[in-house]
Amino acid sequence: MTTAVLTDTEPLKASDRCDRCGAAAYVRVVLGGGELLFCAHHGKKYNDGLAKVAIEIHDFSDKLTEATPKVAADEER
Ligand SMILES: [Zn+2]
Repeated sequence: MTTAVLTDTEPLKASDRCDRCGAAAYVRVVLGGGELLFCAHHGKKYNDGLAKVAIEIHDFSDKLTEATPKVAADEER
């Protein structure tokens, strides 16, 4: 396991994926032992629980509007 020290709030990259569904990540949750990445959907879904355990939560989902394609993704399946 790598112990990367986060010195800055790096924006999420296109290669960063939600730990739950594999969609593009927009929320980074920093925990004591590492970090988790979530898409906007799962970031919201787990927000309440994560807020209790997270050291930091970086929400980039406000960037979603410009990045979301018009075509509805069939990601709920
Ligand atoms: Zn997700």
